[in-house]
Amino acid sequence: MKRLLTGLKPSGELTLGSLIGGIKQSVEFQNNYDSFIFVPDLHAITVPQEAYLLKERIRKNVALYLACGIDPQKNTIYLQSENVYHTNLSWILECHTYMGEANRMTQYKDKASKKEQVSVGLFTYPILMAADILLYSANFVPVGIDQKQHVELTRNIAERFNHKYGDTFTIPEPIIPKIGAKIMDLQNPTKKMSKSSGDTKGSILLLDSEEVIRKKIMSAVTDSDNKVYFDIEKKPGISNLLTIYSSLSNKSLQEVEEIFKDSNYGYLKKEVADLVVITLLEIQKKYQEYVQSGIVDEVLDHGRKTVEKIAKEKYEEVLKKLGLGRF
Ligand code: AMP
Repeated sequence: MKRLLTGLKPSGELTLGSLIGGIKQSVEFQNNYDSFIFVPDLHAITVPQEAYLLKERIRKNVALYLACGIDPQKNTIYLQSENVYHTNLSWILECHTYMGEANRMTQYKDKASKKEQVSVGLFTYPILMAADILLYSANFVPVGIDQKQHVELTRNIAERFNHKYGDTFTIPEPIIPKIGAKIMDLQNPTKKMSKSSGDTKGSILLLDSEEVIRKKIMSAVTDSDNKVYFDIEKKPGISNLLTIYSSLSNKSLQEVEEIFKDSNYGYLKKEVADLVVITLLEIQKKYQEYVQSGIVDEVLDHGRKTVEKIAKEKYEEVLKKLGLGRF
């Protein structure tokens, strides 16, 4: 069975974008792949974090994965920082990555341009991501469009390593969702809906209350021509709402356009809000059950054991190839 791997940084509260662009795909694929899903907590500290919030969010996110439909029987679920091989391999991969290619990462450039000070970790983050993927010989990595370039970097590093030292790493392929590869901010629909923007009016958090969800969607920025159709360039706000509806209803964009072609914006927003509310309230109900059941630690303990063995083997294979250690 081919292996599929995904992770969602606990750097902020999970959003509707994380669900549609990330978790939803893993749920759809879990029957057909050997699925690994982890909490990349080491990635979260590439930007400043409050320790007590991060600690809380790690368990919270695992409970949310489960509530969104990630089945612990079908997935290996684990915490990145509990397995030292991620960072160990990352160092080795850093030594096989050129400055030029790391410098081309647009996500870094974008994030760095908005801050006065950025950490070296934010710059090398895609290489840690490469280690996360290559350590487990993942065949497929479902990602939103923003992460596609990082998977391409991973492929380049792996190919270079294999060429020099012989076949070591599986070359992963990104899987980009057909719908919802980039859910946009409701207030600024040319910008990604992001966890790091925090609890703003533009981001719907998975644990937002019904009232808050409705308010955020009803006040989403649109345009003034009052015609509903999909056109990312001319109508980013409306296109974003249609995309959200399409993804959550499992209907194609054409079908959704047909449903709303004679509607005004108010009606479209109300329908999108209803669907998001139904989806998220169901997730929130299950989330509460998982939090109370204590299953989160059980799942993480089990995951840690499984991945430690796989990671150790791959890491030692790499050491041997490089002439490191005493093998
Ligand atoms: P991150 O939360 O940045 O670690 O990303 C986890 C996964 O969710 C990645 O595959 C991202 O591409 C995806 N993702 C995060 N935000 C969005 C969004 N607004 N739209 C679509 N996909 C997203």
